[in-house]
Amino acid sequence: MTRVAVIGAGPSGLAQLQAFATAARAGIEVPEVVCFEKQGDWGGLWNYTWRTGLDEHGDPVHGSMYRYLWSNGPKECLEFADYPFDTHFGKPIPSFPPRAVLYDYITGRARASGVRDQIRFNTAVRWVSWDGSRFSVSVDDRTGSRTEEFDYVIVATGHFSTPNVPEYPGFDTFPGRIMHSHDFRDASEFAGRDLLVMGSSYSAEDIALQSAKYGAKSVTISYRSAPMGFGWPSGISEVPGLERMDGRTAVFTDGTSREVDAIVLCTGYQHSFPFIADDLRLRTANLLCTPNLYNGVLWIDNPRMMYLGMQDQYYTFSMFDLQAWYARDVILGRLPVPPREDMAAHIDGWTARLQTLANPEEEIDYQADYLRDLMKDTDYPDFDLDLTRRHFKVWEHHKEESITGYRDRAFTSPCTGSQAPLHHTPWWTEPDDTLATFLRTE
Ligand SMILES: Cc1cc2nc3c(=O)[nH]c(=O)nc-3n(C[C@H](O)[C@H](O)[C@H](O)COP(=O)(O)OP(=O)(O)OC[C@H]3O[C@@H](n4cnc5c(N)ncnc54)[C@H](O)[C@@H]3O)c2cc1C
Repeated sequence: MTRVAVIGAGPSGLAQLQAFATAARAGIEVPEVVCFEKQGDWGGLWNYTWRTGLDEHGDPVHGSMYRYLWSNGPKECLEFADYPFDTHFGKPIPSFPPRAVLYDYITGRARASGVRDQIRFNTAVRWVSWDGSRFSVSVDDRTGSRTEEFDYVIVATGHFSTPNVPEYPGFDTFPGRIMHSHDFRDASEFAGRDLLVMGSSYSAEDIALQSAKYGAKSVTISYRSAPMGFGWPSGISEVPGLERMDGRTAVFTDGTSREVDAIVLCTGYQHSFPFIADDLRLRTANLLCTPNLYNGVLWIDNPRMMYLGMQDQYYTFSMFDLQAWYARDVILGRLPVPPREDMAAHIDGWTARLQTLANPEEEIDYQADYLRDLMKDTDYPDFDLDLTRRHFKVWEHHKEESITGYRDRAFTSPCTGSQAPLHHTPWWTEPDDTLATFLRTE
């Protein structure tokens, strides 16, 4: 029997299990699917851990999410078309849920599909290689190591876990704490302190806001190329790049300086796959179009090797679902694999367009077009993709209008058409991120 290995049980890996479970329910004969997950539970990054550094097995901690994390995009833009929010929660819910609510949603669909017994938990994949006819997958299940043979390998291990850590002059003598955002867990740690946040992307934006919300005395955001330029609440400001630390004093390239107690490096992540043999290993920066992956999924040098969720992400869960449906249909032989040169030319076309993108609106269109291509190839349930595209653009404007208020807006579902209610409390004044408080109606 054909065997498929899925590596990782986060949203991408679970999407793959869902895709096969859906086909099986429709009476289609599906291969044996085995999912290896190095953590003790499913949900990937959404499975919060207090741990930093090494996990209980001595492996690098996967989690990069922190307490009080709320969705930073409208939930309507990531809704599962085969399992809408209204179905899971039994009623419409507001558009920007906290982490626990999204975790409940992701795992709720997986539970409903009964895919848990396909997952080998606490099992880390240590090595994947191709022997000419099949893949050898070596795993460590914490009682020992073994190697299994597979016909297909689907890598769904995410790319927000291996931190990119720069060094600046004076870091080695800075008397406070220097951490990467990968290790950031609880913003209240910085209550009453002066914080330096380095970076200008989602992590810097959200960690600066979180820290101010939970009581930091001041937050200085240092950007390398351009400021984010939002209307920050009092206590948060943006300055150019860091030149050096003189003790506790941060000196910036414009000659200004600030005294700080701690530094959070929001300097991004590396795509890291040390468990994959060289000839199968994706090497890429965080881009909307990844090199060597046809349709963003098939490794062109060996299309039995597939990757999910490796792109830079406006779209998340819906993109992973579409990729998973596509991967499934290639494996089932319902979709053709073009010759290598055609796949390479296809990627070149998308890469050329990528170079022309001038702003977030064009990036949103670009990724939405990519999803549209996958949609037309698969039988993933229809949803209003153009509505999500418009939602993303409106959301960008909301952020410009109010960086502390954009999460108080409400959107319409692209799957059911239902209008989300407004949340009972403005995000900026709501410290409680529990599921019970979020779902409470007033
Ligand atoms: C701080 C932060 C905030 C975010 N906020 C949002 C948000 O608000 N909204 C949104 O849509 N997205 C958000 N994201 C994006 C996030 O990437 C996706 O939502 C999603 O978690 C990606 O799913 P994934 O399955 O591809 O990867 P992951 O969630 O990273 O899951 C990968 C899984 O693979 C497992 N794994 C890794 N290596 C191995 C191995 N060798 N062997 C076995 N298992 C392995 C891991 O344990 C993990 O369970 C955020 C990301 C970060 C870092």
